[in-house]
Amino acid sequence: MREVEIEPIALDRLATLLTPERVERLHASIARGRELFEGRTLWNVNATATGGGVAEMLQALLAYTKGAGVPTRWLVLDGDPGFFTITKRLHNMLHGTAGDGGVLGGAEQEHYTAVLARNAQALEAVVAAGDVVLLHDPQTAGLAEALRALGATVVWRCHVGADASNDRTETGWSFLEPHLRAAQAYVFSRREYAPPWLPADRVAVIPPSLDPFSAKNAPMDPSDVDAALGEAGLVDTARDGGSLAFTRRDGSVGTVRPHDGLVLDGAALPRDTRVVLQVSRWDRLKDMGGVLQAFAEHVRDLPPDVHLLLAGPEVAGVSDDPEGAEVLGECQRTWEGLPEVARRRAHLACLPMDDIDENAHLVNALQRRAAVVVQKSLVEGFGLTVTEPMWKGRPVVASRVGGIQDQVVDGESGLLLDDPRDLGAFMGLVERVLADEDLAATLGAGAREAVCERFLGDRHLEQYVRLVESLS
Ligand code: UDP
Repeated sequence: MREVEIEPIALDRLATLLTPERVERLHASIARGRELFEGRTLWNVNATATGGGVAEMLQALLAYTKGAGVPTRWLVLDGDPGFFTITKRLHNMLHGTAGDGGVLGGAEQEHYTAVLARNAQALEAVVAAGDVVLLHDPQTAGLAEALRALGATVVWRCHVGADASNDRTETGWSFLEPHLRAAQAYVFSRREYAPPWLPADRVAVIPPSLDPFSAKNAPMDPSDVDAALGEAGLVDTARDGGSLAFTRRDGSVGTVRPHDGLVLDGAALPRDTRVVLQVSRWDRLKDMGGVLQAFAEHVRDLPPDVHLLLAGPEVAGVSDDPEGAEVLGECQRTWEGLPEVARRRAHLACLPMDDIDENAHLVNALQRRAAVVVQKSLVEGFGLTVTEPMWKGRPVVASRVGGIQDQVVDGESGLLLDDPRDLGAFMGLVERVLADEDLAATLGAGAREAVCERFLGDRHLEQYVRLVESLS
């Protein structure tokens, strides 16, 4: 197991964005949280420190809990490639899809259990009776029993799920069921994701949140956006006094570096383009390939200044996602097969992962620079890639699936695509936003307000405090 450093952040910073009533509630929760954790540690265990929504959320939320005076620690488990193939299969199955088509049988169960038994030994050395352990996602479920035996309070938080169950979700849940029995409570982003056999009184629904001050979401001037994207070689911009600086999670200041070849087809995007952007891991369920195909099929209907950018992490940088390189390869082959007119205006980019604060700052700049942000996921646990541009007041077009439905009110805070496989309807929504500046502005303003009301950390922390209180 590897420990991830958490730099505490004072919650006062978040309070500057909240109404006085919310600030008062937040202070009451902090006080209650400190009491509950007197002499106890809050542990979080997940599968990766970088890449994907869970790592993103932990980075922010744990900094705030530590800043609030709750002893907080974060561990990342050790797995081998076989383990991550099994857990990616589980992840896909809990989303109701076949994934790599492999099985989850006795051999997989044995391997999964053996890897987690080794990780449990590391936990035994540090976790004390009375501590609270939040286990995140299917990769960690097999640690619950060993932690209970140590006298810890164990909560399993699942960030994935399907809107409706099918044979695959049932296979995935049967695999996890023997491990999950030991946990005292279960947290899901949506009620629909909880399997029916979990006792309802031990299930809590707590959607994610974002940190408005992180490098991913901090305010940026348009000139800073241009400077960052120009320096990184993502968009060809004239540097106009903008700053290349960003604040890292440890409080120090970083500077955007020049990068070669982030845009895979060679050159940076031309400067006067309007960008349709999707930012995602290279995961089939995000359907980057479908977005590319939709754009290519409809490129002649779009104004000539509109370009598509699909941006994801460098594939070597997300250790728990064995599918990444394969999906990126598929997108590249699709791109190579497109007619010239589409290839000129559709771009794939891999964002560097050797400096995750710089990566976050570049995502921030891209989301702010975009004319429309899309998220054409086929299924989606929650979708921070929707919350993030909404916070930045960008109009979003996203599939009506999973947690996206809880974030976007169609026509008020974004546009929802009923059938994520309907490429014509998808491009129709994108064209509507591009053609109507007033609509884009209204959706953007509605989006920002929705995130402010429902997806900031105060709500999230309050819900956690209530949950731990109910278990104490
Ligand atoms: N992300 C990133 N860099 C990338 C691609 C994605 O930082 O190159 C982030 C993205 O901004 C978001 C997270 O990864 O914060 C993805 O979270 P989401 O909930 O959308 O999906 P998940 O990856 O957890 O399925």
